[in-house]
Amino acid sequence: MITAPTIATVRAAVAEARRGGARVGFVPTMGYLHQGHLSLVEEARRRSDFVVMSIFVNPLQFGAGEDLDRYPRDLARDTALAAGHGVDLLFVPTVEEMYPTGEPVVRVVPGRLAARLDGAARPGHFEGVLTVVAKLLNIVQPDVAIFGQKDFQQAVLVRRMVADLELPVEIVVAPIVREPDGLALSSRNVYLSPAERVAARALSRALGAADAAARAGERDAARLLATMRDILDAEPAVRPQYVELVDPATLEPVTTAVPGTVAAIAAFVGSTRLIDNVVLP
Ligand code: AMP
Repeated sequence: MITAPTIATVRAAVAEARRGGARVGFVPTMGYLHQGHLSLVEEARRRSDFVVMSIFVNPLQFGAGEDLDRYPRDLARDTALAAGHGVDLLFVPTVEEMYPTGEPVVRVVPGRLAARLDGAARPGHFEGVLTVVAKLLNIVQPDVAIFGQKDFQQAVLVRRMVADLELPVEIVVAPIVREPDGLALSSRNVYLSPAERVAARALSRALGAADAAARAGERDAARLLATMRDILDAEPAVRPQYVELVDPATLEPVTTAVPGTVAAIAAFVGSTRLIDNVVLP
């Protein structure tokens, strides 16, 4: 595996792989790798011959008072995991490499899809995400890029950007990888105290209950939302920020759940903000 701290090295290595006829896959991350990230690498390996992963904690997508400074980092461990799972090129730029003139002046404006859910809770977040994803796609120029359903709104926005700006890349969204007790894997789970870790199960339990109710034929959004809220409210350590049933294309709330409706939750567990979702049957 090549570890590349500069854009020039990435471009040279990708050009070399392409000369050999390789199809290029790309997995962007913020590091502190877990099995969720590694499942995206496996998906990339199935769909390409040369897998590029980036690790970049993008300051542009963090708001004031968020966890940019304490976001978990362990490059030595990440490097070993990436190499062991078949990543061919690991791009680990500094902030200066990505933003040499300081914060970029021209950015990707995400529009109305970012006014909902996490975009409403974290103003400016998706502008930062789409700007860095656009930069990374321009640097790597992959044939296919893999994103996780865990960050469902992000995946919707990236697809929309690729369509609206005619970016020549295929976007694949891979399923959520969970702990045995249901908690969605996240680099931020490391923030949870043992008691908070137990309480955090309420998110996947609530989504599982909505999924089960939908499977049993419940279609009424108000009743499905009440089912989820009851489970979250039973955990005093969990403070929901939003609990919603949304149309996967518009992200607008639905009154009747149909196949493909997304149940989505954001909640603080202690001071840690967690998100999770499920696509209803
Ligand atoms: P992050 O490092 O948190 O920015 O995540 C990088 C990529 O990994 C994003 O596309 C996420 O959606 C994806 N990802 C994060 N957690 C999971 C998970 N538990 N299962 C699958 N993909 C995930």
